[in-house]
Amino acid sequence: MSATTTAYKNFVGGEWVDAASGETMEVINPATGETIAEVPRCSAEDVDRAVAAADKALAGWLDSTPKERSELLHKLADVLEEHGEELAQLESLNVGKPLMASRDEMPFSADNLRFFAGAARNLEGKSAGEYITGYTSIVRREPLGIVAGICPWNYPLMMAVWKLGPALAAGNVQILKPSEQTPLSLLRFVQLAQEVIPAGVLNVVTGDGVPVGERLVAHPDVRLVSLTGDVATGKTIARNAADTLKRVHLELGGKAPMVIFDDADPKAVAEGIRLAAFWNSGQDCTAGSRVIAGPKIYDKLLEELVPQVESLKVGDPMESDEIEMGSVISQSQQERILGFLERAKGATVLTGGGTTNGGRGYFVQPTVVVDVKQTDEIVQKEVFGPVVTVQRFADDDEAIRWANDVPYGLASSVWTRDVGRAMNAVKRLQFGTVWVNDHLLPITSEMPHGGYKQSGYGKDMSIYSMEEYTQIKHAAFKID
Ligand code: NAD
Repeated sequence: MSATTTAYKNFVGGEWVDAASGETMEVINPATGETIAEVPRCSAEDVDRAVAAADKALAGWLDSTPKERSELLHKLADVLEEHGEELAQLESLNVGKPLMASRDEMPFSADNLRFFAGAARNLEGKSAGEYITGYTSIVRREPLGIVAGICPWNYPLMMAVWKLGPALAAGNVQILKPSEQTPLSLLRFVQLAQEVIPAGVLNVVTGDGVPVGERLVAHPDVRLVSLTGDVATGKTIARNAADTLKRVHLELGGKAPMVIFDDADPKAVAEGIRLAAFWNSGQDCTAGSRVIAGPKIYDKLLEELVPQVESLKVGDPMESDEIEMGSVISQSQQERILGFLERAKGATVLTGGGTTNGGRGYFVQPTVVVDVKQTDEIVQKEVFGPVVTVQRFADDDEAIRWANDVPYGLASSVWTRDVGRAMNAVKRLQFGTVWVNDHLLPITSEMPHGGYKQSGYGKDMSIYSMEEYTQIKHAAFKID
């Protein structure tokens, strides 16, 4: 380890521990390619230790009152708010994302914790009653026990928070596995919050998907695994979870359409695409990656869009607060994105299409691609980078058909001044979220976020998420 890197440990049973093997792995800053930290490279043995620590904490946590669980979540939110700037800096350093983005994520994550702090005290259900003559029936909503959360690299701390809020609020104990690429903000957050976390209630184990995530999925005492990640990973986890009939909660990829009808305002739409397609370098499961524009607005929209995209300030987030787009997460992700562009034969790149930042770090230029067919790979598959395609539809039916014609179903948007047309599109779009005249930003702790089709099942945020971390028991009392 060099003098400039920081060494982190796992958080298990309230203690900071190395991997059982003593092995470590490096963490890099993708905007420079430099190593910035090392974390334990864990194995199945480390997962088993974390499950044992969680199991030890479970009985006590099951006896906690909603008020006590709520107080813990409020305290975690306090820590996040108090140290928001430090955590945002660390997030930007590890993900290569602009500071303005990381700074936005911290108060939103704290708000999410506060929402679940409130929700912990507000579980509702069917009323008790004499549904069978001579018996009173009641319904109890109970926690599952030990649950696991497997996190991605694009919003490392926020995705962890989306999992821990509902899990702990509902009375579960949890083991979180951050992405092997971005474990730092979660580890630092837990360091800052360690005094308020009852030992074993929240544990963090670092390492690769295989073996660490794989063992969390296989462990017979883990009752639910929540993954935010790739569709292929989700399928593997669902298959592996079948062996123990574990519950699975999957927040997977997306390929969000932005359906632009002819009566929309081209300037407002271009500004919307600038944000929706390029926020976090397009590494967002809800990124507006497919613009499907009406026959009359198409040309005007491109005229507005290209200068908007070219005005994005791209660079190393650590060099300026003004940077609007940073690097992508890794060299392999950079190569993957460029591979999509190389294979898009017949398509025209209107702007972007290459690397930038003088070859330092893993950057891809913000890119707009036209002349694509609905069946093209670049239209069908998630690129997960700063690339947007623009298609011209002939009529409303074709617009909706193209929008729906992908394996994913996470988020979508429709842009029009006509309320009836918007309502009709909302009904027909097969996506877990439909935004009208906006894209990406309107998410809130009270509302569910989750997919249709191969974008997965289960909802993040909202009371629906908390319900998934519970199981329902019927008790019947003989009363005469
Ligand atoms: P990934 O699937 O490669 O990794 C996600 C996590 O799964 C990592 O922690 C990884 O270590 C773990 N993992 C990998 N293989 C595993 C296995 N066999 N068993 C158990 N765990 C395993 O995804 P990523 O590259 O980190 O993130 C990008 C993907 O996440 C994109 O497809 C994106 O759309 C999706 N995503 C979805 C949402 C959402 O809310 N739907 C949010 C963010 C990201």
